Amino acid sequence: MASLKESITKSITTLNVKTNNFMEQSKYKTYISTLEDEIQKLKLQAGTIAYEKWNKGEDAKEEMEAIFQQIAGKYKEIQVQQENIQKLYQQEQQILGTAGNQGQPAAGGIFCSQCGTRNAENYRFCVKCGSPLQ
Ligand SMILES: [Zn+2]
Repeated sequence: MASLKESITKSITTLNVKTNNFMEQSKYKTYISTLEDEIQKLKLQAGTIAYEKWNKGEDAKEEMEAIFQQIAGKYKEIQVQQENIQKLYQQEQQILGTAGNQGQPAAGGIFCSQCGTRNAENYRFCVKCGSPLQ
């Protein structure tokens, strides 16, 4: 009974974390494509201004500097979003890793002779069925 309840809780946790992270990730990705669009527009704008200035025999250095600063800022913003996505992924691994291995060590330990669950080496009773461990 306890194990069924446990596995349902585990599934719900997994689903919640994945759904939540998927939505968060979509938000970041949408923002990244917005920033990429803006960068494209700025580059186009820079090119247009540079050409017009050149055509009039004027120097476009100042205008270019201002636009390139904006572009650099947006690239930095994209990097932040990518780091957020990475953090989200690591967080998910952490949460799901913990939920998926409840009471079970990653490696080693003692297997219960009654139910086969892996228990930590210092455990005296099985975490799943309560049988004494050797
Ligand atoms: Zn057991």
